[in-house]
Amino acid sequence: MAILKVARMGHPVLRTRAKPIDPGDITSPRIQTLIDSLFETMQEYQGVGLAAPQVHESLRVFVAGFPPRRGAQDEDDEEMRVPLMALINPEITIAGAATAEDWEGCLSIPDIRGKVSRALEIDVRAYDRRGRRISLHAKGFTSRVIQHETDHLDGVLFFDRMKSFETLTFLEEYGRYWSTRDVPEE
Ligand SMILES: [Zn+2]
Repeated sequence: MAILKVARMGHPVLRTRAKPIDPGDITSPRIQTLIDSLFETMQEYQGVGLAAPQVHESLRVFVAGFPPRRGAQDEDDEEMRVPLMALINPEITIAGAATAEDWEGCLSIPDIRGKVSRALEIDVRAYDRRGRRISLHAKGFTSRVIQHETDHLDGVLFFDRMKSFETLTFLEEYGRYWSTRDVPEE
């Protein structure tokens, strides 16, 4: 396992539809090492999610998760909590019509933030890292992160989902003019 180089916007791998992983290969050393390296790289860059195409591997797998900050107990922090997960070949079904617009950032578009509209609640079917079929329901920030990461597997970046670019901001200006809430990249 290793800390991998993150592809930045402009690299074609970020605009390529990633290939499904054969379920029989999920437990192979190659895929297990990739998943470990995705976790290690995500944590190194303090991200909340990281998809394989972001580390130049055009495969349908991503990791996500954001443990609560030590000592922090404010409501925002609670909302931002995302359980650790590695999802392979995820398929999203939108649950209900409700959407929410909120801030996102991306490790492949560093130091930029923008508001993106996403479905509030989703159902997800995928394989876990042991190769078992799983399904889960997600809402709020966890739902947002899963949608952002699954978009990466389809060559879609969060800019593509913005209704307008008026909220597009550099991180420094975000903190100065928009919000003091930390929005991790994903
Ligand atoms: Zn991203």
